[in-house]
Amino acid sequence: MKQCDNCGAQMPDEANFCGNCGISLNKVRTEPQDKRPQVVAQQPVFQQQPTTVIVQQQSNGLGKSGFICALLGLFFGWVPGIGWILWILGTVLSFLGLFKAPRGMAFAGLIISFIDIIILLFIIGGIAALFL
Ligand SMILES: [Zn+2]
Repeated sequence: MKQCDNCGAQMPDEANFCGNCGISLNKVRTEPQDKRPQVVAQQPVFQQQPTTVIVQQQSNGLGKSGFICALLGLFFGWVPGIGWILWILGTVLSFLGLFKAPRGMAFAGLIISFIDIIILLFIIGGIAALFL
């Protein structure tokens, strides 16, 4: 038994035409073969999607590390040197992370970096005020 792809009627294997809708069963048989190149053509599209996901994961990591560096800069901003290094790392990584989606973490990292530089300038101003 074989099934008509057009109407779903069960037909004997030797039947060339569907007894229900009259469509050529041989033609119906060749149609799935014609569809195969389309399925093959769709596969690269499916292969591209995981790579874009990987790029998003990498960019997310970039923005995330920028966010973490900026956040650490908030806590270690008072330490001479380390605070500046963390701020520079946080700013650069967050800035680079902005060019790739998702930008949430990178944007937050830049905002914290902006807060960092204000705090650092206050600390420098405070230290300068002590000596002046
Ligand atoms: Zn049929």
